[in-house]
Amino acid sequence: MTATASGRNGPLKFGQGNAKLPACVTTFSLPAGHSCPFAAACRSRSSRKTGRIRDGRGTAFRCYAASMEARRPSVRHARWHNLRVLRACRSAAEMARLVLDSLTPFARLVRVHDSGDFFSPDYFDAWLEVARERPGTVFYAYTKALPGWLARLDRVGDGHAAGAVPNFVLTASYGGTHDHLIAEYGLRSARVVFSEGEAAGLGLEIDHDDSHAMAPGPDFALLLHGTQPPGTPAAAAVAALRSAGFYGYGSSVRLPLRLVAG
Ligand code: SF4
Repeated sequence: MTATASGRNGPLKFGQGNAKLPACVTTFSLPAGHSCPFAAACRSRSSRKTGRIRDGRGTAFRCYAASMEARRPSVRHARWHNLRVLRACRSAAEMARLVLDSLTPFARLVRVHDSGDFFSPDYFDAWLEVARERPGTVFYAYTKALPGWLARLDRVGDGHAAGAVPNFVLTASYGGTHDHLIAEYGLRSARVVFSEGEAAGLGLEIDHDDSHAMAPGPDFALLLHGTQPPGTPAAAAVAALRSAGFYGYGSSVRLPLRLVAG
């Protein structure tokens, strides 16, 4: 029998846009940290019950998505709903069916994981199957699940160029347990930087709106934002960015002209 979204307590919950993205971008999220088995430098988790943040032992910068869950219980509950419903599926095919039943066919751009990551091989395969079924939609994601990516390299491509499923676009984000695989396999990557100068020194453009992440292409950088653990270099970097006029992303924050102009 084919599982349907409603048969598994679905449908999954999708969003439209976020502080960085316009409403035309559909977003999908899982609980930050809890669904990120390969996270290291960024690994923070918000308690499912209380929302309280716990940083990991190796946290160099706090995951913005975890901070969001701490502040907004409705966001946290929606993400846990998605993870629970997906975990109830018994196969990749069942997960893919659930996503397809839950996602409007009119979505043109889907950011897979505004929060979270590919937490299992079946789950990875499910999104590839969804992308194959919806060739008119671009699905893009940042990931630290690099062993899973490499196991599917023929279909995903290396991020610089498309693979056999060209509407499925990945970027490897530094700060995971398998970072060494990025250089080893030449995967397209993104690094969190603490300043514009750091990005310039690395020869990387900063992506402020996911325009780099949405299509295959060169490596790029992401500017640190969000609340950071007190007393850390990341907290000092955020303070320095604020005094330079960069307060993060969203309609209620100020961006310096240089950043807006790109
Ligand atoms: S992998 Fe992404 S969502 Fe997961 S903890 Fe790191 S930054 Fe947050």
